[in-house]
Amino acid sequence: MGKRQPPHVLLIPFPAQGHIIPFLDLSHHLALQNLSLTIVVTPSNLPLLSPLLSKSPSIQTLSLPFPSSPHLPPGVENSKDLPPSSFGLFIHALSSLHSPLLSWITSQTQTQNPVSAIVSDFFLGWTQPLAEEIGIPRFAFSSSAVLGTAVLHSLLHRLPQRLDATDDSYPISFPGIPGSPIYLWRQLTFLYRSYREGDPVSEAVRQNFLWNFESLGFVSNTFKALEGIYLEHPLEDLGFRKIWAVGPLTPINGGTSRGGVMSVSASQVMTWLDRFDEGSVVYISFGSQAVLPSVQATVLATALEKSGLHFVWAMRDSTTLPEGFEERIAKRGMIIKGWAPQVAILSHHSVGWFLTHCGWNSVLEALTAGIVMLTWPMASDQFVNARFLVEVAGLAFPLWEGSSEVPREDELANILKEAVTLKGTEVRSRAKEMGRKVAEAVSEGGSSYQELEGFVQELLKLEVNV
Ligand code: UDP
Repeated sequence: MGKRQPPHVLLIPFPAQGHIIPFLDLSHHLALQNLSLTIVVTPSNLPLLSPLLSKSPSIQTLSLPFPSSPHLPPGVENSKDLPPSSFGLFIHALSSLHSPLLSWITSQTQTQNPVSAIVSDFFLGWTQPLAEEIGIPRFAFSSSAVLGTAVLHSLLHRLPQRLDATDDSYPISFPGIPGSPIYLWRQLTFLYRSYREGDPVSEAVRQNFLWNFESLGFVSNTFKALEGIYLEHPLEDLGFRKIWAVGPLTPINGGTSRGGVMSVSASQVMTWLDRFDEGSVVYISFGSQAVLPSVQATVLATALEKSGLHFVWAMRDSTTLPEGFEERIAKRGMIIKGWAPQVAILSHHSVGWFLTHCGWNSVLEALTAGIVMLTWPMASDQFVNARFLVEVAGLAFPLWEGSSEVPREDELANILKEAVTLKGTEVRSRAKEMGRKVAEAVSEGGSSYQELEGFVQELLKLEVNV
Protein backbone atom coordinates (compact mmCIF):
# COMPACT_ATOMS: atom_id res chain seq x y z
CA MET A 1 0.00 0.00 0.00
CA GLY A 2 1.35 3.42 -0.97
CA LYS A 3 1.43 6.40 1.33
CA ARG A 4 -1.35 8.96 0.93
CA GLN A 5 -0.02 12.36 0.10
CA PRO A 6 -1.78 15.76 -0.05
CA PRO A 7 -2.28 16.88 -3.64
CA HIS A 8 0.43 19.10 -5.03
CA VAL A 9 -1.05 22.11 -6.80
CA LEU A 10 0.96 24.30 -9.15
CA LEU A 11 -0.21 27.92 -8.92
CA ILE A 12 0.55 30.17 -11.89
CA PRO A 13 -0.43 33.84 -11.56
CA PHE A 14 -0.41 36.37 -14.40
CA PRO A 15 2.10 39.17 -13.75
CA ALA A 16 -0.18 42.19 -13.58
CA GLN A 17 -1.09 43.80 -10.26
CA GLY A 18 -4.85 43.46 -10.82
CA HIS A 19 -4.44 39.73 -11.50
CA ILE A 20 -1.75 38.76 -9.02
CA ILE A 21 -3.32 40.47 -5.98
CA PRO A 22 -6.50 38.35 -5.88
CA PHE A 23 -4.56 35.26 -7.06
CA LEU A 24 -2.36 35.56 -3.97
CA ASP A 25 -5.46 36.00 -1.80
CA LEU A 26 -6.75 32.71 -3.23
CA SER A 27 -3.34 31.07 -2.75
CA HIS A 28 -3.31 32.15 0.87
CA HIS A 29 -6.65 30.47 1.41
CA LEU A 30 -5.44 27.28 -0.28
CA ALA A 31 -2.35 27.28 1.94
CA LEU A 32 -4.62 26.88 4.96
CA GLN A 33 -5.84 23.53 3.56
CA ASN A 34 -4.15 20.17 3.37
CA LEU A 35 -2.51 20.96 0.05
CA SER A 36 1.08 21.16 -1.08
CA LEU A 37 1.58 24.34 -3.13
CA THR A 38 4.20 25.62 -5.53
CA ILE A 39 3.81 29.08 -7.03
CA VAL A 40 5.48 30.06 -10.30
CA VAL A 41 7.02 33.50 -10.66
CA THR A 42 9.62 35.33 -12.76
CA PRO A 43 12.44 36.99 -10.80
CA SER A 44 11.41 40.63 -10.79
CA ASN A 45 7.89 39.74 -9.59
CA LEU A 46 9.21 37.78 -6.61
CA PRO A 47 8.85 40.76 -4.18
CA LEU A 48 5.09 40.80 -4.93
CA LEU A 49 4.85 37.37 -3.28
CA SER A 50 6.26 38.61 0.05
CA PRO A 51 2.91 39.14 1.83
CA LEU A 52 1.84 35.63 0.81
CA LEU A 53 5.11 33.87 1.61
CA SER A 54 5.48 35.56 4.98
CA LYS A 55 1.97 34.39 5.94
CA SER A 56 2.23 30.96 4.32
CA PRO A 57 5.88 29.87 4.49
CA SER A 58 4.99 26.32 3.43
CA ILE A 59 4.39 27.50 -0.16
CA GLN A 60 7.32 26.67 -2.44
CA THR A 61 8.31 29.08 -5.19
CA LEU A 62 9.49 28.13 -8.63
CA SER A 63 11.30 31.07 -10.20
CA LEU A 64 11.73 30.87 -13.97
CA PRO A 65 13.44 33.46 -16.17
CA PHE A 66 11.02 35.66 -18.08
CA PRO A 67 11.05 34.38 -21.70
CA SER A 68 12.96 36.78 -23.89
CA SER A 69 10.91 38.43 -26.62
CA PRO A 70 12.23 40.66 -29.41
CA HIS A 71 9.01 42.70 -29.18
CA LEU A 72 9.17 43.63 -25.50
CA PRO A 73 11.58 46.03 -23.80
CA PRO A 74 14.27 44.05 -21.94
CA GLY A 75 13.65 43.62 -18.23
CA VAL A 76 9.87 44.08 -18.42
CA GLU A 77 8.17 41.26 -16.49
CA ASN A 78 4.95 42.93 -15.34
CA SER A 79 2.22 44.39 -17.54
CA LYS A 80 2.16 47.58 -15.43
CA ASP A 81 5.33 48.59 -17.29
CA LEU A 82 3.71 48.26 -20.71
CA PRO A 83 1.09 50.21 -22.65
CA PRO A 84 -2.19 48.35 -23.34
CA SER A 85 -1.14 48.00 -26.99
CA SER A 86 1.59 45.55 -25.91
CA PHE A 87 -0.60 43.27 -23.77
CA GLY A 88 -1.09 40.78 -26.61
CA LEU A 89 2.68 40.49 -27.05
CA PHE A 90 3.11 40.12 -23.30
CA ILE A 91 0.52 37.33 -23.09
CA HIS A 92 2.14 35.63 -26.06
CA ALA A 93 5.68 35.95 -24.62
CA LEU A 94 4.59 34.28 -21.39
CA SER A 95 3.40 31.22 -23.27
CA SER A 96 7.07 30.37 -23.84
CA LEU A 97 7.12 29.24 -20.21
CA HIS A 98 5.36 26.10 -21.47
CA SER A 99 8.57 24.22 -22.13
CA PRO A 100 10.48 25.01 -18.87
CA LEU A 101 7.31 24.25 -16.92
CA LEU A 102 6.81 20.96 -18.72
CA SER A 103 10.40 19.95 -17.87
CA TRP A 104 9.96 20.91 -14.23
CA ILE A 105 6.61 19.13 -13.83
CA THR A 106 8.01 16.03 -15.55
CA SER A 107 11.00 16.07 -13.20
CA GLN A 108 8.54 15.95 -10.27
CA THR A 109 6.67 12.85 -11.46
CA GLN A 110 9.26 10.47 -10.03
CA THR A 111 9.43 12.27 -6.68
CA GLN A 112 7.27 11.94 -3.54
CA ASN A 113 5.46 15.09 -4.61
CA PRO A 114 4.21 14.85 -8.21
CA VAL A 115 2.06 17.74 -9.45
CA SER A 116 -1.67 16.84 -9.30
CA ALA A 117 -3.30 19.98 -10.71
CA ILE A 118 -2.69 23.43 -12.12
CA VAL A 119 -4.55 26.54 -10.99
CA SER A 120 -3.60 29.34 -13.36
CA ASP A 121 -4.80 32.79 -14.33
CA PHE A 122 -7.29 32.92 -17.21
CA PHE A 123 -4.78 35.03 -19.17
CA LEU A 124 -2.58 31.92 -19.21
CA GLY A 125 -4.84 29.67 -21.29
CA TRP A 126 -1.76 27.89 -22.71
CA THR A 127 -1.42 26.13 -19.34
CA GLN A 128 -4.46 24.06 -20.42
CA PRO A 129 -2.64 22.05 -23.13
CA LEU A 130 0.32 21.87 -20.75
CA ALA A 131 -1.90 20.23 -18.11
CA GLU A 132 -3.37 17.90 -20.74
CA GLU A 133 0.11 16.85 -21.88
CA ILE A 134 0.87 15.73 -18.34
CA GLY A 135 -2.61 14.31 -17.77
CA ILE A 136 -3.63 16.52 -14.84
CA PRO A 137 -6.62 18.87 -14.44
CA ARG A 138 -6.35 22.62 -14.80
CA PHE A 139 -8.60 25.21 -13.19
CA ALA A 140 -8.70 28.78 -14.54
CA PHE A 141 -8.72 31.70 -12.13
CA SER A 142 -10.54 34.85 -13.20
CA SER A 143 -9.83 38.16 -11.51
CA SER A 144 -12.66 39.73 -13.55
CA ALA A 145 -16.41 39.68 -13.16
CA VAL A 146 -18.23 36.70 -14.68
CA LEU A 147 -19.84 39.19 -17.07
CA GLY A 148 -16.46 40.64 -18.09
CA THR A 149 -15.01 37.15 -18.49
CA ALA A 150 -18.00 36.11 -20.60
CA VAL A 151 -17.77 39.20 -22.83
CA LEU A 152 -14.04 38.68 -23.46
CA HIS A 153 -14.42 34.99 -24.29
CA SER A 154 -17.49 35.60 -26.39
CA LEU A 155 -15.60 38.19 -28.46
CA LEU A 156 -12.66 35.91 -29.12
CA HIS A 157 -14.95 32.95 -29.79
CA ARG A 158 -17.38 34.68 -32.17
CA LEU A 159 -15.16 37.41 -33.66
CA PRO A 160 -18.04 39.88 -34.21
CA GLN A 161 -17.20 42.53 -36.80
CA ARG A 162 -18.15 46.15 -37.45
CA LEU A 163 -19.86 46.89 -40.74
CA ASP A 164 -18.06 50.22 -40.87
CA ALA A 165 -14.41 49.84 -39.84
CA THR A 166 -14.16 53.52 -38.87
CA ASP A 167 -17.21 53.60 -36.61
CA ASP A 168 -16.04 53.44 -33.00
CA SER A 169 -19.64 53.64 -31.81
CA TYR A 170 -20.67 50.55 -33.76
CA PRO A 171 -22.87 48.40 -31.47
CA ILE A 172 -21.77 44.83 -30.80
CA SER A 173 -24.38 42.61 -29.19
CA PHE A 174 -23.99 39.61 -26.95
CA PRO A 175 -27.19 37.58 -27.34
CA GLY A 176 -25.79 34.58 -25.44
CA ILE A 177 -25.31 36.56 -22.24
CA PRO A 178 -28.29 37.17 -19.91
CA GLY A 179 -29.78 40.60 -20.60
CA SER A 180 -28.30 40.47 -24.14
CA PRO A 181 -26.00 43.43 -23.50
CA ILE A 182 -24.81 45.67 -26.32
CA TYR A 183 -21.47 47.50 -26.12
CA LEU A 184 -20.05 50.08 -28.45
CA TRP A 185 -16.92 49.10 -30.36
CA ARG A 186 -14.78 51.56 -28.40
CA GLN A 187 -15.97 50.03 -25.13
CA LEU A 188 -14.51 46.64 -26.04
CA THR A 189 -11.13 45.52 -24.81
CA PHE A 190 -8.15 46.46 -26.96
CA LEU A 191 -7.13 42.79 -26.83
CA TYR A 192 -10.07 42.17 -29.13
CA ARG A 193 -10.15 45.42 -31.09
CA SER A 194 -6.53 44.80 -32.14
CA TYR A 195 -7.27 41.25 -33.35
CA ARG A 196 -6.24 40.74 -37.01
CA GLU A 197 -7.17 37.48 -38.67
CA GLY A 198 -4.06 35.52 -39.65
CA ASP A 199 -1.68 37.67 -37.60
CA PRO A 200 0.36 35.20 -35.49
CA VAL A 201 0.18 37.19 -32.23
CA SER A 202 -3.58 37.83 -32.64
CA GLU A 203 -4.23 34.15 -33.33
CA ALA A 204 -2.06 33.08 -30.39
CA VAL A 205 -3.94 35.45 -28.06
CA ARG A 206 -7.27 34.18 -29.36
CA GLN A 207 -6.28 30.55 -28.89
CA ASN A 208 -4.92 31.40 -25.46
CA PHE A 209 -8.43 32.34 -24.30
CA LEU A 210 -10.28 29.60 -26.20
CA TRP A 211 -8.27 26.99 -24.27
CA ASN A 212 -9.99 28.20 -21.10
CA PHE A 213 -13.20 26.51 -22.25
CA GLU A 214 -11.44 23.18 -21.82
CA SER A 215 -10.44 23.83 -18.22
CA LEU A 216 -12.38 22.01 -15.51
CA GLY A 217 -13.87 25.36 -14.58
CA PHE A 218 -13.36 28.95 -13.51
CA VAL A 219 -12.66 30.11 -10.01
CA SER A 220 -14.12 33.61 -10.12
CA ASN A 221 -13.62 36.52 -7.78
CA THR A 222 -17.28 37.42 -7.63
CA PHE A 223 -20.35 36.47 -5.62
CA LYS A 224 -23.91 35.35 -6.17
CA ALA A 225 -25.70 38.34 -4.64
CA LEU A 226 -23.98 40.54 -7.23
CA GLU A 227 -23.69 38.42 -10.37
CA GLY A 228 -26.32 35.76 -9.72
CA ILE A 229 -27.99 36.61 -13.03
CA TYR A 230 -24.89 35.42 -14.92
CA LEU A 231 -24.19 32.50 -12.61
CA GLU A 232 -27.65 30.98 -12.59
CA HIS A 233 -28.31 30.98 -16.32
CA PRO A 234 -26.05 29.00 -18.57
CA LEU A 235 -23.90 31.28 -20.70
CA GLU A 236 -25.31 29.95 -23.91
CA ASP A 237 -22.76 30.73 -26.56
CA LEU A 238 -19.98 30.01 -24.15
CA GLY A 239 -18.99 26.67 -22.74
CA PHE A 240 -17.68 27.27 -19.24
CA ARG A 241 -18.03 23.93 -17.52
CA LYS A 242 -18.32 25.26 -14.01
CA ILE A 243 -17.88 28.53 -12.14
CA TRP A 244 -16.98 28.72 -8.48
CA ALA A 245 -17.98 32.22 -7.33
CA VAL A 246 -15.63 32.61 -4.37
CA GLY A 247 -15.32 36.36 -3.96
CA PRO A 248 -14.55 38.85 -2.78
CA LEU A 249 -11.47 36.92 -1.69
CA THR A 250 -10.26 38.10 1.69
CA PRO A 251 -7.10 40.22 1.31
CA ILE A 252 -3.94 38.90 2.97
CA ASN A 253 -3.02 41.07 5.99
CA GLY A 254 -6.25 43.03 5.55
CA GLY A 255 -4.86 44.38 2.28
CA THR A 256 -2.20 46.52 3.93
CA SER A 257 0.78 45.18 2.01
CA ARG A 258 -0.51 44.11 -1.38
CA GLY A 259 0.66 44.86 -4.86
CA GLY A 260 3.61 47.12 -4.18
CA VAL A 261 5.56 49.18 -1.70
CA MET A 262 3.25 51.79 -0.17
CA SER A 263 4.36 55.33 -0.79
CA VAL A 264 2.57 56.44 2.37
CA SER A 265 1.63 54.42 5.44
CA ALA A 266 -2.00 53.47 6.03
CA SER A 267 -1.88 55.09 9.47
CA GLN A 268 -0.77 58.45 8.01
CA VAL A 269 -3.74 58.47 5.64
CA MET A 270 -6.12 57.26 8.37
CA THR A 271 -5.04 60.12 10.64
CA TRP A 272 -5.58 62.61 7.83
CA LEU A 273 -9.03 61.15 7.09
CA ASP A 274 -10.10 61.17 10.75
CA ARG A 275 -10.82 64.91 10.62
CA PHE A 276 -13.64 64.59 8.08
CA ASP A 277 -17.30 63.72 8.57
CA GLU A 278 -18.71 60.30 7.86
CA GLY A 279 -19.03 59.56 4.14
CA SER A 280 -17.82 63.01 3.04
CA VAL A 281 -14.55 62.16 1.26
CA VAL A 282 -14.10 61.02 -2.35
CA TYR A 283 -11.27 58.56 -2.99
CA ILE A 284 -9.89 58.67 -6.54
CA SER A 285 -7.80 56.02 -8.26
CA PHE A 286 -7.40 54.70 -11.77
CA GLY A 287 -5.69 51.49 -10.64
CA SER A 288 -2.27 50.09 -11.36
CA GLN A 289 -2.20 50.33 -15.17
CA ALA A 290 -3.91 53.47 -16.38
CA VAL A 291 -2.17 56.83 -16.40
CA LEU A 292 -4.59 59.71 -16.75
CA PRO A 293 -3.44 61.77 -19.78
CA SER A 294 -2.23 65.16 -18.60
CA VAL A 295 -5.14 67.12 -20.16
CA GLN A 296 -7.62 64.90 -18.34
CA ALA A 297 -5.62 65.10 -15.10
CA THR A 298 -5.67 68.90 -15.35
CA VAL A 299 -9.42 68.99 -15.93
CA LEU A 300 -10.10 66.59 -13.06
CA ALA A 301 -7.83 68.57 -10.74
CA THR A 302 -9.56 71.83 -11.66
CA ALA A 303 -12.99 70.25 -11.28
CA LEU A 304 -12.03 68.97 -7.83
CA GLU A 305 -10.82 72.42 -6.91
CA LYS A 306 -14.06 74.02 -8.11
CA SER A 307 -16.29 71.41 -6.48
CA GLY A 308 -15.00 72.15 -2.98
CA LEU A 309 -15.09 68.40 -2.20
CA HIS A 310 -12.77 66.59 0.20
CA PHE A 311 -10.70 63.96 -1.54
CA VAL A 312 -7.76 61.55 -1.54
CA TRP A 313 -6.30 61.08 -5.01
CA ALA A 314 -3.95 58.15 -5.55
CA MET A 315 -2.09 58.49 -8.82
CA ARG A 316 0.74 56.95 -10.79
CA ASP A 317 4.05 58.82 -10.36
CA SER A 318 3.93 60.03 -13.94
CA THR A 319 0.59 61.89 -13.63
CA THR A 320 0.99 65.63 -14.17
CA LEU A 321 -0.99 68.20 -12.17
CA PRO A 322 -1.58 71.92 -12.66
CA GLU A 323 1.00 74.27 -11.18
CA GLY A 324 0.36 75.01 -7.49
CA PHE A 325 -2.60 72.60 -7.27
CA GLU A 326 -1.24 70.57 -4.38
CA GLU A 327 -0.59 73.64 -2.22
CA ARG A 328 -3.99 75.15 -2.99
CA ILE A 329 -5.99 72.07 -2.01
CA ALA A 330 -3.75 70.89 0.86
CA LYS A 331 -6.41 71.43 3.55
CA ARG A 332 -9.08 69.32 1.90
CA GLY A 333 -7.25 67.08 -0.53
CA MET A 334 -4.49 64.53 -0.18
CA ILE A 335 -2.38 63.47 -3.15
CA ILE A 336 -0.66 60.10 -3.04
CA LYS A 337 1.88 59.56 -5.79
CA GLY A 338 2.85 55.93 -6.15
CA TRP A 339 1.20 53.00 -4.38
CA ALA A 340 -1.64 53.82 -1.96
CA PRO A 341 -3.12 51.67 0.84
CA GLN A 342 -6.40 51.46 -1.08
CA VAL A 343 -8.25 48.84 0.95
CA ALA A 344 -7.58 50.74 4.18
CA ILE A 345 -8.67 54.04 2.63
CA LEU A 346 -11.92 52.62 1.26
CA SER A 347 -12.84 51.20 4.64
CA HIS A 348 -12.32 54.48 6.51
CA HIS A 349 -15.67 55.85 7.73
CA SER A 350 -15.11 59.30 6.24
CA VAL A 351 -14.77 57.88 2.70
CA GLY A 352 -18.18 57.68 1.05
CA TRP A 353 -17.36 57.79 -2.66
CA PHE A 354 -14.92 56.17 -5.01
CA LEU A 355 -14.11 57.75 -8.35
CA THR A 356 -12.83 54.60 -10.03
CA HIS A 357 -11.71 53.26 -13.38
CA CYS A 358 -13.77 50.16 -12.47
CA GLY A 359 -10.99 47.59 -12.42
CA TRP A 360 -12.72 44.58 -10.91
CA ASN A 361 -10.59 44.48 -7.74
CA SER A 362 -11.36 48.11 -7.05
CA VAL A 363 -15.05 47.42 -7.63
CA LEU A 364 -15.05 44.53 -5.15
CA GLU A 365 -13.16 46.62 -2.60
CA ALA A 366 -15.75 49.42 -2.94
CA LEU A 367 -18.62 46.97 -2.59
CA THR A 368 -17.02 45.43 0.49
CA ALA A 369 -16.76 48.90 2.02
CA GLY A 370 -20.38 49.64 1.04
CA ILE A 371 -19.55 52.86 -0.76
CA VAL A 372 -20.88 54.40 -3.97
CA MET A 373 -18.76 54.44 -7.12
CA LEU A 374 -18.40 57.24 -9.65
CA THR A 375 -17.35 55.46 -12.82
CA TRP A 376 -14.67 56.51 -15.28
CA PRO A 377 -13.68 53.36 -17.19
CA MET A 378 -10.50 53.53 -19.27
CA ALA A 379 -9.73 50.15 -20.84
CA SER A 380 -10.03 46.32 -20.85
CA ASP A 381 -13.14 45.05 -19.00
CA GLN A 382 -13.74 48.37 -17.24
CA PHE A 383 -16.48 49.64 -19.59
CA VAL A 384 -18.40 46.40 -19.10
CA ASN A 385 -17.98 46.64 -15.32
CA ALA A 386 -19.03 50.30 -15.26
CA ARG A 387 -22.16 49.72 -17.35
CA PHE A 388 -23.09 46.76 -15.15
CA LEU A 389 -22.68 48.80 -11.95
CA VAL A 390 -24.69 51.74 -13.25
CA GLU A 391 -27.36 50.09 -15.40
CA VAL A 392 -27.87 46.62 -13.92
CA ALA A 393 -26.80 46.79 -10.27
CA GLY A 394 -27.65 50.46 -9.58
CA LEU A 395 -24.58 50.87 -7.40
CA ALA A 396 -22.77 53.68 -9.21
CA PHE A 397 -23.09 57.01 -11.01
CA PRO A 398 -21.46 57.46 -14.41
CA LEU A 399 -18.88 60.24 -14.43
CA TRP A 400 -16.85 59.99 -17.63
CA GLU A 401 -15.45 57.40 -20.08
CA GLY A 402 -12.14 56.72 -21.74
CA SER A 403 -8.83 58.51 -22.12
CA SER A 404 -9.37 60.44 -25.35
CA GLU A 405 -12.37 62.77 -24.89
CA VAL A 406 -11.83 65.56 -22.40
CA PRO A 407 -14.71 66.72 -20.20
CA ARG A 408 -15.29 70.39 -19.50
CA GLU A 409 -14.11 71.41 -16.03
CA ASP A 410 -17.46 72.93 -15.01
CA GLU A 411 -19.41 69.99 -16.31
CA LEU A 412 -17.21 67.55 -14.39
CA ALA A 413 -17.30 69.67 -11.22
CA ASN A 414 -21.11 69.72 -11.45
CA ILE A 415 -21.52 66.00 -12.03
CA LEU A 416 -19.18 65.30 -9.14
CA LYS A 417 -20.87 67.70 -6.77
CA GLU A 418 -24.35 66.61 -7.73
CA ALA A 419 -23.55 62.94 -7.23
CA VAL A 420 -21.87 63.49 -3.90
CA THR A 421 -24.56 65.77 -2.52
CA LEU A 422 -27.20 63.17 -3.33
CA LYS A 423 -26.40 61.62 0.04
CA GLY A 424 -29.01 59.30 1.48
CA THR A 425 -30.38 58.48 -1.91
CA GLU A 426 -31.29 55.05 -3.13
CA VAL A 427 -27.85 54.38 -4.60
CA ARG A 428 -26.22 55.03 -1.29
CA SER A 429 -28.51 52.69 0.61
CA ARG A 430 -28.13 50.03 -2.11
CA ALA A 431 -24.34 50.28 -1.78
CA LYS A 432 -24.58 49.89 2.00
CA GLU A 433 -26.90 46.92 1.55
CA MET A 434 -24.42 45.38 -0.89
CA GLY A 435 -21.68 45.84 1.73
CA ARG A 436 -23.79 43.73 4.08
CA LYS A 437 -24.32 41.11 1.36
CA VAL A 438 -20.56 40.88 0.79
CA ALA A 439 -20.03 40.27 4.51
CA GLU A 440 -22.73 37.58 4.42
CA ALA A 441 -21.33 35.88 1.31
CA VAL A 442 -17.83 35.47 2.74
CA SER A 443 -18.76 34.54 6.30
CA GLU A 444 -19.17 30.93 7.40
CA GLY A 445 -22.03 29.29 5.51
CA GLY A 446 -22.32 32.20 3.02
CA SER A 447 -22.45 31.57 -0.73
CA SER A 448 -18.80 32.43 -1.48
CA TYR A 449 -17.61 30.60 1.62
CA GLN A 450 -19.38 27.47 0.42
CA GLU A 451 -18.13 27.80 -3.14
CA LEU A 452 -14.56 28.18 -1.92
CA GLU A 453 -15.03 25.08 0.23
CA GLY A 454 -16.40 23.28 -2.84
CA PHE A 455 -13.37 24.26 -4.89
CA VAL A 456 -10.98 23.13 -2.14
CA GLN A 457 -12.80 19.76 -1.99
CA GLU A 458 -12.32 19.43 -5.74
CA LEU A 459 -8.56 19.84 -5.24
CA LEU A 460 -8.43 17.57 -2.18
CA LYS A 461 -10.04 14.77 -4.22
CA LEU A 462 -6.79 14.64 -6.15
CA GLU A 463 -4.94 13.15 -3.17
CA VAL A 464 -2.22 10.84 -4.47
CA ASN A 465 -0.76 7.50 -3.45
CA VAL A 466 3.00 7.42 -3.67
N1 UDP B 1 -4.07 49.28 -5.65
C1 UDP B 1 -3.51 49.69 -4.46
N2 UDP B 1 -2.89 50.89 -4.44
C2 UDP B 1 -2.81 51.71 -5.51
C3 UDP B 1 -3.41 51.29 -6.73
C4 UDP B 1 -4.05 50.08 -6.75
O1 UDP B 1 -3.55 48.96 -3.45
O2 UDP B 1 -2.24 52.80 -5.41
C5 UDP B 1 -4.71 47.95 -5.70
C6 UDP B 1 -6.21 48.04 -5.62
O3 UDP B 1 -6.62 48.03 -4.26
C7 UDP B 1 -6.64 46.82 -6.38
C8 UDP B 1 -5.55 46.65 -7.43
O4 UDP B 1 -4.44 47.38 -6.95
O5 UDP B 1 -6.63 45.69 -5.53
C9 UDP B 1 -5.92 47.20 -8.79
O6 UDP B 1 -6.72 46.28 -9.44
P1 UDP B 1 -7.95 46.72 -10.33
O7 UDP B 1 -8.56 45.47 -10.83
O8 UDP B 1 -8.85 47.61 -9.58
O9 UDP B 1 -7.34 47.59 -11.49
P2 UDP B 1 -6.08 47.40 -12.48
O10 UDP B 1 -4.90 47.90 -11.73
O11 UDP B 1 -5.99 45.94 -12.79
O12 UDP B 1 -6.43 48.27 -13.63
